[in-house]
Amino acid sequence: MALETVLSDVPITLPYPWDYPAAEPKQGCAECVAITRQINRVERPNSPDYDPSKASDLRVRMRRHHDGQGAGE
Ligand SMILES: [Zn+2]
Repeated sequence: MALETVLSDVPITLPYPWDYPAAEPKQGCAECVAITRQINRVERPNSPDYDPSKASDLRVRMRRHHDGQGAGE
């Protein structure tokens, strides 16, 4: 079977990373403040700590820590 035949029936839709909602810090949460500070440091391209992957991890952590789920720490 030709490869085109196999793949033509399988639409593949992946979300772009920037389609994920931004993490919103909760008011009065020290952890949110700390995470926001880290995100601000690692997501600036001109920062010596620039690390987009880490920024993404931190956003996941921001979203999850109020659900009682850590981000693997
Ligand atoms: Zn928080």
